[in-house]
Amino acid sequence: MTGKIPAQELRGAIDAQVEATFERVEALYRQLHQYPELSFHEHETSRRLAEALESLGYEVTRGVGRTGVVALLRNGDGPTVMLRGDMDALPIKEETGLDFASRETAESGNGQVPLMHACGHDLHSSCVVGAAAVMAGLKAQWSGTLMLVCQPAEEIFGGARAMLEDGLYERFGRPDVILGQHNMPALAGSVGHIAGRAMAACTNLAVTIHGAGGHGSMPAQAVDPVVIAAHVVTRLQTIVSREVPPEEGVVVTVGKLQAGTQANIIPHFAELEINIRSFDNALHTRVVESIKRIVRAECEAGSTPKSPEFHILNETVALHNDATTVERVRRAHAAQFGEANVYAMPRLNGSEDFPLFGNTEAGGFGGEDIPYAYWFIGATPAERWAETPGKSVAEKMRHLEMPHSPYYFPGNAVTMRTGMAALASGALAWLAG
Ligand code: ZN
Repeated sequence: MTGKIPAQELRGAIDAQVEATFERVEALYRQLHQYPELSFHEHETSRRLAEALESLGYEVTRGVGRTGVVALLRNGDGPTVMLRGDMDALPIKEETGLDFASRETAESGNGQVPLMHACGHDLHSSCVVGAAAVMAGLKAQWSGTLMLVCQPAEEIFGGARAMLEDGLYERFGRPDVILGQHNMPALAGSVGHIAGRAMAACTNLAVTIHGAGGHGSMPAQAVDPVVIAAHVVTRLQTIVSREVPPEEGVVVTVGKLQAGTQANIIPHFAELEINIRSFDNALHTRVVESIKRIVRAECEAGSTPKSPEFHILNETVALHNDATTVERVRRAHAAQFGEANVYAMPRLNGSEDFPLFGNTEAGGFGGEDIPYAYWFIGATPAERWAETPGKSVAEKMRHLEMPHSPYYFPGNAVTMRTGMAALASGALAWLAG
């Protein structure tokens, strides 16, 4: 290990490095924000990030898992720490009124759509570059390997899997610990931690119920998929109410139900899209099986001419933060930002594909699970936070725009500095230990 420096000095050294690189990272952020790209189309975004990392002296590989970027800084013996940021944007029309707001559009499966970084992934990847600069500047203070991952397609739970399938760990080495962060409408300058079950597993399941269409006046000569679909929707409610233990937080939402064209035609088929969330991966699998069982049984009850079809649109596992890893990062963040700026993050029903990087079974990379910690950086400026009703972080959050809102904007200077320092101090908890 190279010269271990006292916590107070390390804090000052990180702050100084953050200041030295801040303007450059902010300029990069604004570019990324103004020119968002959809999942797996992050060509310009990843080019900008790769160039920035290269100019900092990192060993950079492009096109990992289609548009992903991996950057390594090998700095002697010691553990490998992986820092992950995501890059993709959303089909939302930006309404923030910023002078660098996006006016971009792109061709998607549904025609031309507006584009916006409404989830702050531009902030996440900019902070990875910021942390890269801090760590390069502090090279004499640590030893080991820093592995930076700019991941595509988080919004469709595709990018982490694509990078793993492209041989992320075989080609670049297997990290000892994985760290990641997401912005949240909490006080800017604060960092939220939660051990254990932090975010939900998610499956988006498409279902096709096949009927036999005909004239609306002659139902006896048809099999009506609308009636079957209606039974399916109500019967699915019994999974959460009757099959899942009450202490578990499970959601089954039918977000799409489509059939037919007009009143006097019985359609040939009905289509459903179902969103499933839970915090236990084994229970999650059982819930998906229950849905299939109920759909099959209702099709049998309605004597459909053909079995129903199921198609998983996308899915990810639950995010279970490793308690020991969280505690180590939390202590580093308390030293960096002050104990008062570290809060207990409430569990979120949202989902992430980040846990695939640590979960050997779901990630499909073999060996043991890799411990990970995923934390939340506050994105609400102090003034706005003070005037927001509520006492706890959870109460105040209910009154603030959440990610995916066209008004959501986490990219203030305090949050950006915090995001850079949070990644660097987190990595140094292993590399300068
Ligand atoms: Zn996000």
